[in-house]
Amino acid sequence: MYLTDNLESIGVSLETSEPKPSIDQPGGLDLDVFDPQLFRKNAEMVISKLEEYLADSSIRGLSLTNPYILLQAAKDLMTSEGGVVTVEEKLAAIIDLYIKTGIQVHSPGYMGRQFSGVIPLAAVIDLISSTVNQPSSFYEAAQLPNVVERIMADEFNQFIGWERDSFAMVTTSGGSLASLTALLAARNDKFPRIWSEGILALEGQPRPAIAVGDAHYSISRAVGIMGIGEDQIVRLPINQKNQICIDKVRPTLEAAEKRGLKVFCLVASAGTTTMGAFDPIDELAAIAQEKNLWLHIDGAHGGSLLVSDQLRHKLKGIEKADSFILDAHKMMFLPAACTLLFYRNKPKSYGAFRQNASYVFEKKPDIYTEFDSAEQNFECTKRPLIMNLWVLWTLYGKALFASKIDYLCQLTLQAYEILNDEPDFQTLHQPEANILCFRYLPVNLRESAFPDFQVAIRNRIREGGKFFISKVDIEGKGCLRVVFMNHQIDGDRFRTLLREIRKIGQELLKESKPIHS
Ligand SMILES: *Cc1c(COP(=O)(O)O)cnc(C)c1O
Repeated sequence: MYLTDNLESIGVSLETSEPKPSIDQPGGLDLDVFDPQLFRKNAEMVISKLEEYLADSSIRGLSLTNPYILLQAAKDLMTSEGGVVTVEEKLAAIIDLYIKTGIQVHSPGYMGRQFSGVIPLAAVIDLISSTVNQPSSFYEAAQLPNVVERIMADEFNQFIGWERDSFAMVTTSGGSLASLTALLAARNDKFPRIWSEGILALEGQPRPAIAVGDAHYSISRAVGIMGIGEDQIVRLPINQKNQICIDKVRPTLEAAEKRGLKVFCLVASAGTTTMGAFDPIDELAAIAQEKNLWLHIDGAHGGSLLVSDQLRHKLKGIEKADSFILDAHKMMFLPAACTLLFYRNKPKSYGAFRQNASYVFEKKPDIYTEFDSAEQNFECTKRPLIMNLWVLWTLYGKALFASKIDYLCQLTLQAYEILNDEPDFQTLHQPEANILCFRYLPVNLRESAFPDFQVAIRNRIREGGKFFISKVDIEGKGCLRVVFMNHQIDGDRFRTLLREIRKIGQELLKESKPIHS
């Protein structure tokens, strides 16, 4: 097992040098830290370290450090024996510790999760955002970010097709928060009294409920937070492809109604977390309309496929959704977090945090406050989340994103075909996006009583530090899962991973005891 067990092996050294006299200002305020030249000097050192980090294309999925050793290493950096370590040296050591531990998202060995190796220029734009510090819920504090949100809303709407100015888009910090916001808007729309009177306003009436497919855990969490109660989640049957079975939706909803539930919202996934499967949005929209349900599409993972001419069809019917989210920090390859939350009907976007959505219009916003988003999003002080996306979109256009999305989805299909040619591997689905689930099932596995073989393989791969893949349960049984987020991965790299899985799997079988011994 590869564990880093001292500071040196993590690559951190604290060389000592002459103490640097600090400029003591009246009142003890050290004005040095505000010095623009010092800022530049430090930034240049940081950038050159990051350049080195980005240039390293070796296969290294994860460097898993013993947390107690890392804790000590971090504490050691906080002490400076008699001021012998300069600020610059400490900063350099901190950066080394930071980038060498943890997940290596820029390495071709990283195939495990949905967050991405980022487009490096985004980090530079983040630097601007952090320096100018314009919290973006209010136009007066962040003018450019707020107009840019409108621009990006219109850019995405080219692929959705709503009437100009009839819809709304809000940025928010992550998909979980975006879905909670959308579901609050849905609840307040269908049960307007709850916002001021609380959930007890509905006593004696059928209980509010939400119907879901293979939803991400953020949805049940939102249901809990909203006071609807997790027990009021109606699970719609799922098919082999991990999608909602459309012909089972009506009977399931009707059965829920008979149990005394009032389903008011249907949540579908555009890219399930498990397999990257797309629920049939168009057909679900027809049912939602017929039954007067709010249709929310959780496109945190796959919503970005909208920008791809080849793949957009997977979101067919998206224009009929009441709300729809996409995480730009997943398939748009930006640093976390940047989520776009769309509402088909603009006035409803003001409904999440108030009882009466029309209130805001009575207030008669002026030309400035009309651009505020504070009424529509949770955050009061909010990062200007849209800037990374807009700047890159402006410099490179949608092709930058679309070509990488197309490549990764194509690669996933190729990986599926590679697996199908390997008799000791089992595929579980034809991939729809860039997520693929499979199992390693060698013949000699049957002779051994090996519980959670797939999980054991995954964990040992992680400890090896070369590849990082994930695991997921499908129909109660563990399987291996890869998520391709990195354009440096290709078919050969995937074959290298399979060789590693085989090697580790056979090692594990050798170590375990056969059943009849
Ligand atoms: C990742 C994911 C989420 C959660 O989004 P965060 O940005 O991590 O909060 C929600 N739904 C789906 C389908 C996801 O894949």
